[in-house]
Amino acid sequence: MNKKILVTQSSMPPYEEYVEEIKDLWETKWLTNHGAKHNLLEKKLCEYLKCPNVSLFVNGHMALYTAINFFKMKGEVITTPFTFASTTHAIVQNGLTPVFCDIKPSDYTIDEEKIEELITPNTCAIVAVHVYGNPCNVERIEEIAKKHNLKVIYDAAHAFGVKYKEHSILNYGDISMLSFHATKVYNTIEGGACIYKNPAWHQKFYELKDFGITDTEAMEVPGMNGKMNEFQAAMGLCNLKHIDEEISKRKKVYERYLDNLKDVKGLKIPVLRNDVEYNYSYFPILILDEYPYTRDETVAILNKENIYPRKYFYPLTSDYACYKENYDINSTPIAKKISEKVMTLPLYANLSLEDVDRICNILKNNS
Ligand SMILES: *Cc1c(COP(=O)(O)O)cnc(C)c1O
Repeated sequence: MNKKILVTQSSMPPYEEYVEEIKDLWETKWLTNHGAKHNLLEKKLCEYLKCPNVSLFVNGHMALYTAINFFKMKGEVITTPFTFASTTHAIVQNGLTPVFCDIKPSDYTIDEEKIEELITPNTCAIVAVHVYGNPCNVERIEEIAKKHNLKVIYDAAHAFGVKYKEHSILNYGDISMLSFHATKVYNTIEGGACIYKNPAWHQKFYELKDFGITDTEAMEVPGMNGKMNEFQAAMGLCNLKHIDEEISKRKKVYERYLDNLKDVKGLKIPVLRNDVEYNYSYFPILILDEYPYTRDETVAILNKENIYPRKYFYPLTSDYACYKENYDINSTPIAKKISEKVMTLPLYANLSLEDVDRICNILKNNS
């Protein structure tokens, strides 16, 4: 049996580098609560990402929850159902009502031309996702938001380091959220961040992720515990030293997939734009009707060879047991169709090109 290939594998620094980085924690005994490594990582990420302000969190979901919580909004939020659970849950956990907008067949991001028809007097925000690292139409979304006085929050969990027209995609919208989960392009084991323009917000984020403590005896808001600890920050500092190399290795894997699969009938593969600098986070393909097998059959064929792609994103979040009674997935027909046909192929920096070829040969031989 061939060795098991999972959809992803976490990037890790050399063991010695991490051990060296955490050594002084045994002297300082300062393990969390905005420690030195946490503060240094915020600074280094601002520099690397070319973003004015970065506030770190214990995980991406807590960052997204807090980003939405930040504006104390009420009412409806226009969002996409083609995403990870976190996006929809964060809206609902803030007492807001998700209103699902369809996506574009070209890059699976929210269809900006279908947003306005969903706006009501109760709409307060747009929560869009740069899904697979593909930038949303940020200019058009900004225009719509201005016209209707809406906040814009981007779930940029997949978009670490992505540039659009030579600028960080994270600088669009009121707040962008990043995830540094172990499975993402850049990880701090678990972790996340909010990115925003106003430096005065830094203190407010700090309070929101530290129980709302403004002073040892003052609690202004019912805050969460969302702080990143020093062992996470140490992993982040180490991984940041290798991130460019990791992304360029991912690019090689990605291009090998493109090369191998470009002429396979019945497979739809990603199309890259020249105004975007990608991070090669995912390789999503659609198994179209012309392919001799369905998406689920194709997944089973690969599983039999010990290869584990993911049906990422299936089901739509609007089809989850906790939400489905309030929604009809037929109201977002493109998202529905794509979720039934999509899978993401294994992609990580250390995936060998031989393994990519083997995966592609299985897909080709069955076509
Ligand atoms: C990973 C992910 C999140 C949540 O991030 P965590 O760090 O796992 O909490 C949110 N949205 C999307 C689209 C994601 O893929």
